[in-house]
Amino acid sequence: MKKHIILFATIALLAGCAPKESDQQANPAAGILLKDFAPQVINNIPQTHVERAKFDIIDMHAHDYASSEEEIARWCKVMDEVGVLNTAIMHCSWIGRPFEEFVAAYAPFKDHFRFWCCFDYTDIDTPEGIAKACETLERYHEMGAVGVGELGDKGEGDTYARPADGKDIHIDDPRIKPLIEKCAELKMPISIHIAEPYWMYLPMDETNDGLINAVTWHVDTTNCYGYDKLMVTFENAVRENPNTLFIACHYLNMTHDLPRLGALLDKYPNLYFDISARVAESAHTPRATREFLIKYQDRVLFGTDNGMEAPMYHTIFRVLETNDEHFYMPESEYHWALSGFNLPDEVLKKLYHDNAYRILTEYR
Ligand SMILES: [Zn+2]
Repeated sequence: MKKHIILFATIALLAGCAPKESDQQANPAAGILLKDFAPQVINNIPQTHVERAKFDIIDMHAHDYASSEEEIARWCKVMDEVGVLNTAIMHCSWIGRPFEEFVAAYAPFKDHFRFWCCFDYTDIDTPEGIAKACETLERYHEMGAVGVGELGDKGEGDTYARPADGKDIHIDDPRIKPLIEKCAELKMPISIHIAEPYWMYLPMDETNDGLINAVTWHVDTTNCYGYDKLMVTFENAVRENPNTLFIACHYLNMTHDLPRLGALLDKYPNLYFDISARVAESAHTPRATREFLIKYQDRVLFGTDNGMEAPMYHTIFRVLETNDEHFYMPESEYHWALSGFNLPDEVLKKLYHDNAYRILTEYR
C-alpha cells in the first residue's frame, strides 16, 4: 500500500501538479455555484443541425406568444421554414386577452393555428353557473375552438383558466363533470398539465438529481395536493369519463418513471400524452425514452410549449431524429447532457403528425 502512495506522489510531482494546501484554497472550481455551471462539449462526435423536420408537423402545444400581427406573421414564416403545418395555441395558462380577442388576432393566419379554450369557472358552484359554463364552451367551439386547454393543476386546482381561475377545482371534481362530458359531446380533447417533474418535490439537497437544473424550482406541497394525490385525481377523471379524450401534457410529468405512464396508457384508451417542454427531462435517458416512444407510438403527440423561435424547433428535431450524443439545450437552465432518440421514420410520422391529425379529424 505504501509503495502505491509513493508512486502516485512521484507521478504528480513529475507532472508539476502536486496539490498544495494553498493551491486548493485558490482553486477557482471550489467557488463555482451550481447556477453558474455552463459546460461546453469537448468531444469530437457528430453534431447534427436539423433545420427542418423530416416530416410535416402538427404542434399540439403552444401559447399566445405573439404580441402583434407582425410577430404572428414572423411565427408563421418560422413554422413554414421548419416544417410545422399548424400549431395549437392554448388560451389557458396565459394572462392575456379574452378568448374572442385572441381568436380575432390570429384569424388572418388561421390556416397556421388551431384554437384551444378554457373552462369558465365563474359561478361554478350553482346549477345556473355550470349551465352557463357549458354554453360558453359551446360558443367557443362554434368560434373555432377544437379542444380545451391547457388546464393546469400543480396542487391548488386548475389555476390556468381565464377569466376565473379554478382554485381548489381538481380535474375529478364532481362540479365540473358536466363540462368534461360536454367535451366528449363536442369531441373536444382536454389538454392538461398535472403536477411537475418529480425531482421538484424531493428535498433540494445534495442528493437531488435535478438540483443542478434549477435550484429554485422546489414545489412546496404544505397547503396543496402533492404529486401522487394529483395523479390520483387525473386517473379518476380519465377512468370516469371514457368518452372524453385526455392529453397529458409533458409526458404527464412522468419522464422519470415511464413504466408508470405506460401502465396508464395500457389501461385507458382515451389517454394520449404530449412531449412538450420536456426535452431535457427525457433526452438524458435516450434509450429508455426511445423504447417508450416506439412502444406507445400511437399515443404520443408533438408539442413545443417554448416560444416561436427557429432554434427551439431545431433542438427538438435533433433530439427526436438524430443519434447525436452529449449535447446541451442552448440557453437553458437545464444542464443534463442530452442524446438523440434516432426514432424510426414510421414513429416520427405518427409523433409529428398522424396521431394529432387523427384526433383533430376522426375524433371530431
Ligand atoms: Zn403549456
